[in-house]
Amino acid sequence: MLHVKCTCCNKEIISSSKLQTCGCENNMIVRNGTVTAQDLNYVVLIKSKDNIKNSGFLTNADLKYQEERRKRKVRKLTFEER
Ligand SMILES: [Zn+2]
Repeated sequence: MLHVKCTCCNKEIISSSKLQTCGCENNMIVRNGTVTAQDLNYVVLIKSKDNIKNSGFLTNADLKYQEERRKRKVRKLTFEER
């Protein structure tokens, strides 16, 4: 679920599986978890269901964590082999 606002015409749209547009020249189009517009600077994300803003952050953190974990595992394996 995505709750976005077009600051061009101040219309708020809550996403659904149906395609919705704000109707102004910015032409904000919302569908499912996707939002597009002529100029995204005029689009404000009011609310998103965790997996949009957070996923990027979590992915980065996860990657770092996995990398560190991999290094640790390698070290551990090397240690065990010796
Ligand atoms: Zn608009």
